[in-house]
Amino acid sequence: MTNDKASEQPDLPILRQSLDFDHRYPCPVCRYGQIEGLFLVDAFSCGFCRHIFTVDLPHQYLRLEDTAAPLQWRWTGDRWVSARSVVTEESLLLLWGFGLAFVLVPTALVWLANHTFPPLPNPDGGGTSFPLLWTGLTFLSHSSIVGWFCLEYYQIPLYLMLKLYIQRLFQPVFSR
Ligand SMILES: [Zn+2]
Repeated sequence: MTNDKASEQPDLPILRQSLDFDHRYPCPVCRYGQIEGLFLVDAFSCGFCRHIFTVDLPHQYLRLEDTAAPLQWRWTGDRWVSARSVVTEESLLLLWGFGLAFVLVPTALVWLANHTFPPLPNPDGGGTSFPLLWTGLTFLSHSSIVGWFCLEYYQIPLYLMLKLYIQRLFQPVFSR
């Protein structure tokens, strides 16, 4: 029995530690790896998901730099809290509106075109499902683009794990 429990368990999470380059912190993106300061640059990197972050040490902010998503977190001393100050509520609503229009307008146009000018009846009886198929494909392709943007923006852990798994699968062994 010993009273010095801290020395027995060096990997315990940091408690009330301010953000600096001398310590490691849990990664706010994958919530699995740890971020640590990169050599010679004022940036952090995650050992697991490999995202790069820049830091605002006076305000204890961390900003994700290697994706289009303007994600920011504030370090409270023991955990990260989301600080999406870059994207306001109004602009997020506008983005959702654009996303919805991007899916619905082309689908409606294709449907309208097929409805207004239906294909000529085929003497063999086939080909009547083509307009429906084309409309469905338009909806699917456009909604998958919007869906991909959503996954990138919200950085859903399951999506990140899958993305990393695929990246590592196709990565040459020597660059690991
Ligand atoms: Zn990570």
